[in-house]
Amino acid sequence: MKTIIEPFRIKSVEPLHHTTAAEREAYLEAAGYNLFAIEAAHILIDLLTDSGTSAMSTEQWAAIMRGDESYAGSESFFRLKKVADELTGFRHMIPTHQGRAAERILFTVLAQPGQIVPSNTHFDTTRANIEFMGARAVDLPVPEAADTQARLDFKGNLDVAALEALIAAEGAQKIPLVMLTATNNSGGGQPVSMANIEAVRKVCSRHGIPLYLDACRFAENAWFIREREAGYRNWPPKQIAQKMFSLADGCTFSAKKDAFANIGGFLCTNDDRLAQQETNLLILTEGFPTYGGLAGRDLDAIAVGLEEVLDPDYLRYRVVSTGYLGRHIADRGVPIVEPPGGHAIYIDAGRMLPHIPRHQFPGQALAVELYRHAGIRSVEIGSLMFGAEARHELLRLAIPRRVYTQSHIDYVVEAILEVNQRKEQIRGLEIVEQPPFLRHFSARLRPL
Ligand SMILES: *Cc1c(COP(=O)(O)O)cnc(C)c1O
Repeated sequence: MKTIIEPFRIKSVEPLHHTTAAEREAYLEAAGYNLFAIEAAHILIDLLTDSGTSAMSTEQWAAIMRGDESYAGSESFFRLKKVADELTGFRHMIPTHQGRAAERILFTVLAQPGQIVPSNTHFDTTRANIEFMGARAVDLPVPEAADTQARLDFKGNLDVAALEALIAAEGAQKIPLVMLTATNNSGGGQPVSMANIEAVRKVCSRHGIPLYLDACRFAENAWFIREREAGYRNWPPKQIAQKMFSLADGCTFSAKKDAFANIGGFLCTNDDRLAQQETNLLILTEGFPTYGGLAGRDLDAIAVGLEEVLDPDYLRYRVVSTGYLGRHIADRGVPIVEPPGGHAIYIDAGRMLPHIPRHQFPGQALAVELYRHAGIRSVEIGSLMFGAEARHELLRLAIPRRVYTQSHIDYVVEAILEVNQRKEQIRGLEIVEQPPFLRHFSARLRPL
C-alpha cells in the first residue's frame, strides 16, 4: 500500500468551533493584530507551535495514573531515568520543568562573561540564556542554509570550517561548549547529518571542548538521517538516536517536542563534577533532583513518550504529513523554506509578498490574513520577532504531534492557496505599541 495513514485512532476528541468572518475581524482588532493576544477558543486550527501541544497516547495517560508523587526517590523518576539512560547513554539525567530551565542551569554553570558559545543555530531561549550570562551566542549555519529555495538534505548542519576558524581566532579556552540543535528549529526545522555531528565531535575533541546536543527533536532528526544519509537505511530510529547522543558530552532537552509531553525537559552530562554543580542549582530553583520542577506523573508521561516517538510508523507519518502540507502549497506557487522540515512548514513571506517592505512585516501581514480568512493561527518569524537581525521574513506553520488529521491539513492548504491568489491585496502593518524586549509576544499593530 502506498497510502500512509495516521498510525493511531482517536479515543477522546476536543470539539473545534468555527467563527464568522465578522467575529474574526473584531478579534483581530481587539488583539492589536497580534495572534498571541487572541483567545485559543477563537482559533479553528492552531499552528502556533508544536511545543507542549501534542496529543498524549492511552499509554501516556495510563502512566499518568501511575505517577509517584513522592518528594524524594519517586518511582516515576527511576522509570524516566531508565528510559533516558538507555536512549542517551549519558551518566547523569537531571529533570527540569522545560527545556529553557535545562539551558539556564547549563549556562549558569558553564558560561562565563566574554565567552563564546557556537551552534548551527541557537534557539531563541538558548541564545537568551547564553547572553544573560554575559557570553556571546554565535550561529554558524552552513552557507547553503541562507538560500530558502535550495533543496538539500541537511541544511541544518554546522559549518565546520567556520567553527575551526572561530576556535583559531578566539582560542579554545574562550569556548566553554559547542551546541548542535537537531533538528535546527530556527533554521527551518532542517536536519543535521550524522557526518556533521561526527565532524563537529572531532573538532571539539581536538580542542578539548565539550559538545552538547539541543536534542528537542532528536527523533525527527534520526528519521531524516535514516531516509537521507548513506548507511542508515536499515537502522532502527532508536539506534540512530543512540549514535547521535553517543557523539556528545551532554544534552538539553524539551519534552514538549519529541516526548509528546505537555510539559517537561531534562539536562544530561557525562561530567560528574558538573552534574554536582547543576544539581545544586536545580535544588535552588527547580526542585529536588528526583522531580526537578515536575509532578511525578509528568516524568512518567515523558518516559513513555520517549519510547513511542521512535516508532518507525509514527516517524514516517510525521515527516510525510509535514511534507504533504509543504508540497501541496509549494508546488502551487507558495514559496516555502525548502525542503520541508520535520515539525513545521515555513512560508517565505518576503518572497511571497514582495510589495510589502520588511518594516511593514510581510510575515505578520500573512499571519493576520490567514486568521482572517480561515481561523488558522500561525506565527511570524521575521522582522517583528527579531527586528533588524531577522535574516528572512517567514511565517511558520508548526504541526502539533498526533493532533490534526489530513482533512484539517487539506483545509489549511486550501486556505493558503486562496490567500495566495489575491496576495497583491494584502497590506502591511505598523507597530502602535511595543514592549522593550521580546516584542512579538505583546506588540500592538494596525493595518496600513
Ligand atoms: C522549544 C525549544 C527549546 C526550549 O524548550 P522549552 O521547553 O520551550 O523551554 C530549546 N531549543 C529548541 C530547539 C526548542 O525547539
